[in-house]
Amino acid sequence: MMRFLAIGECMAELAPSATPGDYRLGFAGDTFNTAWYLARLWPEVAVSYFTAIGSDAMSTQMLVAIQASGIDTSHVQKVPGRSVGLYLICLTNGERSFSYWRGQSAARLLADDPEALASAVAGADLIYFSGITLAILEEAGRARLLNVLKSARTAGKTIAFDPNLRPHLWSDPAQMTKAIMQGAAVSDITLPSFEDEARWFQDKDPEATADRYTKAGASTVIVKNGPDPVLHDQAGARGRIPVPPLTHIVDTTAAGDSFNAAVLAGLIFQKPLGEAVLQACQLAGQVVQGKGALVPVERLP
Ligand code: ADP
Repeated sequence: MMRFLAIGECMAELAPSATPGDYRLGFAGDTFNTAWYLARLWPEVAVSYFTAIGSDAMSTQMLVAIQASGIDTSHVQKVPGRSVGLYLICLTNGERSFSYWRGQSAARLLADDPEALASAVAGADLIYFSGITLAILEEAGRARLLNVLKSARTAGKTIAFDPNLRPHLWSDPAQMTKAIMQGAAVSDITLPSFEDEARWFQDKDPEATADRYTKAGASTVIVKNGPDPVLHDQAGARGRIPVPPLTHIVDTTAAGDSFNAAVLAGLIFQKPLGEAVLQACQLAGQVVQGKGALVPVERLP
């Protein structure tokens, strides 16, 4: 059985319910969302999540929710005295905006114990992390995580990375772009989104994004681009997959995260890359037509 490990932060989510002033509690976060879709749609993959939580009741609730979605939590670290991060969704005239309380979250310390990290990674074949995973860590933790991933790659494991550029999580854009390229340098599969890459790396087209990540060391690069065609590159062989058009988009949260789950599943099952990308577009297409990050989609053909 293929063993998948995602590393990052899952947060408590408060989303407005139908009654004004009432909020519904959920749990989400970029790398967690990918793990959730993978576990839900490809039960033949052993999915594990690596993060740190606190020792309070909310942390325990999150742990139970992660387990209930079919994800292994045996490597989740516990940090006494901290809690999980939180975000709240605000609806203003139908527009969603997000407020975050994650500055002191336990997940910020997820790379503090190099042995815990190494043992989680040792039990996986495919390891997935993101630019947000890197952003929440201090310099030393980031270096520790990158080192563990680098050794894992040398040991023959596959590393997958979504740059997920979030400038507000970094002290400045230069620090962000530098760390992102360090993440890319330990990765076999890089899954960027063109709009963000163009803005922060000045890529003139998706080809330039693919070139940059290929040069950084990835053998597979897939450049998402919203409703525009997805560019895929495997060892220099490039293709473009048009995104099936949609007329009614409800909420684009987790479009990229679900896309990544389907692409990684395709690679796990050794599908041709173009086929995996098409399936990823179909899954993301279902997800943007539903509300929230975790849309209860059905298994794809
Ligand atoms: P991210 O969520 O990481 O910013 P993108 O916005 O590039 O990622 O979207 C990821 C995938 O979601 C796209 O490749 C596409 O398959 C699907 N998607 C996103 N926006 C749309 C859209 N407007 N119409 C159809 N599909 C979309």
